[in-house]
Amino acid sequence: MTKRYTTTDGGGPAPSDDQSLSIGPDGPILLQDHYLIEQMAMFNRERIPERQPHAKGGGAFGHFEVTNDVSKYTSAAVFQPGTKTDTLIRFSTVAGARGSPDTWRDPRGFALKFYTSEGNFDMVGNNTPIFFVRDPLKFQHFIRSQKRMAATNLRDHNMQWDFWTLSPESAHQVTWLMGDRGIPKSWRHMNGYSSHAYSWINSGGEIFWVKYHFKTDQGVDFLTQEEADRLAGEDGDYHLRDLYEAIERGEFPSWTLKMQIMPFEEAKTYRFNPFDLTKVWPHGDYPLIDVGKLTLDRNVTDYHTEIEQAAFEPNNIVPGTGLSPDKMLLARGFSYADAHRARLGTNYKQIPVNTPKVEVHSYSKDGAMRIHNVSDPVYAPNSYGGPQADPVRAAEVRWYADGEMVRAAYTLRAEDDDWGQAGTLVREVLDDAARERLVHNIVGHVSKGVNEPVLSRVFEYWRNVDADLGKKVEEGVRANLS
Ligand code: NDP
Repeated sequence: MTKRYTTTDGGGPAPSDDQSLSIGPDGPILLQDHYLIEQMAMFNRERIPERQPHAKGGGAFGHFEVTNDVSKYTSAAVFQPGTKTDTLIRFSTVAGARGSPDTWRDPRGFALKFYTSEGNFDMVGNNTPIFFVRDPLKFQHFIRSQKRMAATNLRDHNMQWDFWTLSPESAHQVTWLMGDRGIPKSWRHMNGYSSHAYSWINSGGEIFWVKYHFKTDQGVDFLTQEEADRLAGEDGDYHLRDLYEAIERGEFPSWTLKMQIMPFEEAKTYRFNPFDLTKVWPHGDYPLIDVGKLTLDRNVTDYHTEIEQAAFEPNNIVPGTGLSPDKMLLARGFSYADAHRARLGTNYKQIPVNTPKVEVHSYSKDGAMRIHNVSDPVYAPNSYGGPQADPVRAAEVRWYADGEMVRAAYTLRAEDDDWGQAGTLVREVLDDAARERLVHNIVGHVSKGVNEPVLSRVFEYWRNVDADLGKKVEEGVRANLS
């Protein structure tokens, strides 16, 4: 192998790997030792702001292959039969800081980027089909309640339960979180869901409301609270390590993409508001339709450039796909891109991992750290052959809206309430053993630092989900506190 010499960042030969320049071996060091200065200055600037939230994570490259024909629902090139598309995925926890343990109880991010022939398509999902709140004005408050107190800088269960019990729409997601799936065995052993309703548009212009379900081919598996607590001490990077090592061994994890598809008109009269992020669409109403397979087969070579600087955003949509009237989704359409501008800089889409594999012809220009040259004309309209918008192909979905400007929750449907689907999960999906673990996990969590008046509301909250569950939670917590 030819010998590689160290260089400065400017490419010139570095004078030494281990000795700074001084006047005599015992003398002062010199400012003209540019290589020393460069090393110190770069080191001071290595950390960039961590994500807020979803700071701790890991990921890998892979591909998505379409195995079924769903062309009657979408014209998106990425979902046409036989199409194979390169992908990037990032898994994460939500509340923990960048160095926090992987095995804390928390939802997990499941953020996917498809480098499609029509531009980047991102599905910034979670391992849960629902969420804690349905209005974006509450999201910031929710995350603050999960992070740290002002004075102590400690996470605080009282603060978490205070927010949850004052926000009954959280009941479905908190039930899910406190159950087995709240701590996945590994990132390979969990599903990914779009959670939101999105839209698909077919070549005839027909719109469908859709939900994405990436079902793990490894099987869903979980850690008990006790296993997770032990691992948090022994190996805080347990999930990161698991994914990297599995791919290195050639065990490529995969997920089967299945869709729920709702005809446009049915949304108006469906028994649940289909755009409410705290609800699922029951499978019995909208069965899962196979689309294809996602496989992860390549580890990153530089975590910083390929994962820490990876920027996913729900507004990255492609022709044949679109957003929906889900208020949380529409807000994310702004907030993700804004977060990347703040963390990575205005030209973050020119960082190679974020760059689409198609040519970019936007009229964006200049800004810090711009890498690709623009060319004239730099404005539109112009007489000099500059790019022109393509409204027919553009990924934009319009739906009807009318009425006064209001600050109000979604219109309630016949079966819309905050407790119903949570109760269904407890009574109809979980078996006896899973229900026992649910009680055990809630009791353990609430017994650590939850005080009145929040405590009484916690018991009420669980009684509203399920009377028997509420009774057991209260008995368990009172026994622990007595
Ligand atoms: P189904 O009986 O058709 O589906 C129940 C689903 O629950 C399963 O398919 C599985 O989702 C999921 N599940 C199984 N064990 C657990 C667990 N321990 N924690 C969380 N989820 C679990 O019923 P419905 O579609 O009518 O939904 C009933 C309830 O199931 C909902 O209220 C919701 O709480 C939950 N659920 C529903 C999903 C949906 O999109 N319809 C998705 C996930 C949960 P999966 O197949 O995705 O692994």
